[in-house]
Amino acid sequence: MALLDIIVIGGGFSAASFTLHLLDLAAQQGVQPGTFRLRLIEPRLTLGAGIAYSARDPNHRINVAATRMNWSGDGSDDFDRWTRETGAVAEDPAMVWQDGSLYPARAVFGHYMHTRLMELTASSPQIAFEHVRQRAEAVAAFEDRYRVRLADGSSLEADLVVLATGHPPPNLPRGLEVLAGSDRFIADPWRPGAVADVQADDRVLLVGTGLTMGDMVASLRTQGCGGQMMALSRRGLIPRPRASTVEAFGDCDFSHFARVSQSLKAMRSEIRKARGESRPWSDVLERIRQQNMDIWAAWPQAERRRFLRHLKPYWDVHRFQAAPQIDSLVKAVCNSRHLTIEAGSIVGARPHAKSIEVDIKPRGLPAERAKTHVFERVVNCTGASGAHITRDDPIFASLAEQRLVRSDSLRIGLDLDSRSHPVSCEGKSVTGLFVIGPAARGCLGEVTGAPELALQARRVAEWVLEAGTLKNGDQVRQKQLS
Ligand SMILES: Cc1cc2nc3c(=O)[nH]c(=O)nc-3n(C[C@H](O)[C@H](O)[C@H](O)COP(=O)(O)OP(=O)(O)OC[C@H]3O[C@@H](n4cnc5c(N)ncnc54)[C@H](O)[C@@H]3O)c2cc1C
Repeated sequence: MALLDIIVIGGGFSAASFTLHLLDLAAQQGVQPGTFRLRLIEPRLTLGAGIAYSARDPNHRINVAATRMNWSGDGSDDFDRWTRETGAVAEDPAMVWQDGSLYPARAVFGHYMHTRLMELTASSPQIAFEHVRQRAEAVAAFEDRYRVRLADGSSLEADLVVLATGHPPPNLPRGLEVLAGSDRFIADPWRPGAVADVQADDRVLLVGTGLTMGDMVASLRTQGCGGQMMALSRRGLIPRPRASTVEAFGDCDFSHFARVSQSLKAMRSEIRKARGESRPWSDVLERIRQQNMDIWAAWPQAERRRFLRHLKPYWDVHRFQAAPQIDSLVKAVCNSRHLTIEAGSIVGARPHAKSIEVDIKPRGLPAERAKTHVFERVVNCTGASGAHITRDDPIFASLAEQRLVRSDSLRIGLDLDSRSHPVSCEGKSVTGLFVIGPAARGCLGEVTGAPELALQARRVAEWVLEAGTLKNGDQVRQKQLS
């Protein structure tokens, strides 16, 4: 029997990266065979894919070059090499950009994650691994263990539970609440085939102008939609194109700044230095990315709030750059006047049988100057929201009922301690639970891209291994005493 029983709920990138790190660390540290049993609960067949890397549309590409993504976050080109070796390039030559970098379809990355996980679990004597293909419905604490109820009514028990349920579904954008339930409103663009029913001459409103907007434009154009498209966000900012080479540059240790404005000033100064050396601004952002958890940790809550309110939209379009294939396509569709990017807000909407009327107020104008536009489809491209995570995610809702989790004070995820344990409503760390992935962002800052998620996954794997080693030591001591 295993000494430590672990359940991981969710089987997206975060869960797979955590499991791979645990396997890797257990092997490196010579952990005794059979120390862990790890059951990963995920209804999808492909592990490591989750929402992002299950995308079926081949136009939905990773937004950084393949050399910069892998399961471990160690900067190696494992995924790039794997992609070239498997022959995926021949199947989709468009993944090769002009500079030779690969931007494969996101599903290819999902396949890579699954392959690496299967390889390592098959060869690990330390961890007995099982994929439970179900949805978990609730987690209950009992004595010093946890019971996880599954959709088929059965339950599993564990010493530790790692919660990796990923992105909550996107919220309804303000002003569009009346569209809930309308079959002309596409609330979740990440659902497979979400825009498949859009007709060739439908006029489409894309609410949100970030990376998801680019994906939707690619899907709609590929399926032959030639109707007029409008992409709308409050500022009308779109992601910058991915720079072909990136080399971290600058002295960006901003973790001693307690104010956002100090970090901003220092960043601008580093960008000026970069320009002086004929380097792009993206090299400075790359350096900041490597330190963003420390920078976030240094800001008091009021400054974090200030960043979210005023700077995040600008940060996001520079930080989350578009794959060059998507960037070129969006620009081409704009140039052909089939797509306009607008800055403004929605002040009203009325669903009808065959269309949706939307009142849009251009940025900077009063509400009376709003104009009514008519679309056949409205697509929500505003992205995930963590505002109601303890209500919308059934696992966190069940834990909130037991007062074992609470929202962070920014209401973008869960309140966690420095070891990624949730903090209970009484303010105590719940040490049998770990939270990894986007739900940690209120406490850790930007845990969005694969490298940052992998870093958090590795840290949690180290703490879980520590817990297993301690328990192992206890049992050996108990045997010696008896
Ligand atoms: C559309 C999109 C594209 C992205 N592209 C990139 C990119 O190109 N490069 C990059 O670095 N980052 C990218 N990201 C960011 C990042 O890599 C992903 O967000 C990351 O995959 C998050 O992984 P996750 O495992 O935390 O969550 P998710 O991917 O959301 O996975 C969570 C998993 O948990 C499962 N689950 C949820 N609830 C339960 C339950 N109750 N029981 C059982 N299973 C459950 C779900 O089925 C899902 O498979 C992208 C994100 C999105 C949304």
